[in-house]
Amino acid sequence: MSRRRGRPRPHRAAWQPSSHEVQQRRDGEWNVRRLSGASSNKTYTCPGCLHPIAPATPHVLVWPVEKSLLSADAIDERRHWHRDCWHRRP
Ligand SMILES: [Zn+2]
Repeated sequence: MSRRRGRPRPHRAAWQPSSHEVQQRRDGEWNVRRLSGASSNKTYTCPGCLHPIAPATPHVLVWPVEKSLLSADAIDERRHWHRDCWHRRP
């Protein structure tokens, strides 16, 4: 038995945990990604306060872990939120 083996490498997922996390809320689990806004030149409307999120404003992108029955894919339900509005959400 002289065969040498390399150390087994842990399998890593493609996404980075620091940029994307799952948060538990009253109505289910949500994927939450923090965005700096620096690469965005679009204005989004925050569903929490219905005010615009101006370009280059740090905010969060949120989409459900489980898609709702009416949508083809959970990523279609992604929404841009002000960070504070998302944190205030129950
Ligand atoms: Zn807001």
